[in-house]
Amino acid sequence: MRTIILLGAPGAGKGTIAEGIRSSSPFVHVSTGDMLREAVKAGTPVGQKAEAFMKRGELVPDGVILALVEERLDKGSRDGAYMFDGFPRTIEQARMLDAILEKRAARIDRVFLLDAPRELLISRLTGRRVCRKCGQGYHVVNIPPRKEGICDVCGGDLYQRADDQESTILNRLDVYTRQTESLISFYDKKGVLVRVDSARPRQDTVAEILRVTEALTV
Ligand code: ADP
Ligand code: ZN
Repeated sequence: MRTIILLGAPGAGKGTIAEGIRSSSPFVHVSTGDMLREAVKAGTPVGQKAEAFMKRGELVPDGVILALVEERLDKGSRDGAYMFDGFPRTIEQARMLDAILEKRAARIDRVFLLDAPRELLISRLTGRRVCRKCGQGYHVVNIPPRKEGICDVCGGDLYQRADDQESTILNRLDVYTRQTESLISFYDKKGVLVRVDSARPRQDTVAEILRVTEALTV
């Protein structure tokens, strides 16, 4: 089992980059944000617990996240390749992930830190739109759909995530600084951190990450 992590502030492009990597590599995309949004939509017990935290831009409690991730990994093949996006987000979660991987005789191969300036993070988040039906991401300026408000892929409606309102965005960036940024030195010390410039066009960032992951498989 190979494991990579996409680490970075909200708006750094974790989801978009993950999509690009998934289409040309064996990595299974595990996004705790997507899993939580699905749980909220489906009204499951996890979704009911998570919804209020997410609306405020706060982190969902570690225990909820752990259960979600373990369940997801139990479903996948044991020797699969995993790409985590939006997880871990606290030192506690990082320790939990180490324990989960140890049980599976696996370890973290690389952690990619997606780096972009704060103004860019904010403009990406405020302009972000998502397809209600298939989850495809857009941006009103950078990646506009061919027809305003309509998904190119499936014709579904585009909407703005509840946590992409300006005041919530600022809180999410703040939460990142307070609770997640310490993971950078945590993984740097383990010798697995790779910084990548995520202010460039997405295909450049994807290509750089793929070069590193392809070298891992040989
Ligand atoms: P972003 O990185 O742009 O904030 P995500 O989709 O990764 O978007 O996360 C959206 C929200 O879901 C977070 O603000 C948080 O409330 C919740 N969430 C996602 N992943 C985690 C996690 N690993 N731990 C705690 N909360 C999480
Ligand atoms: Zn769609």
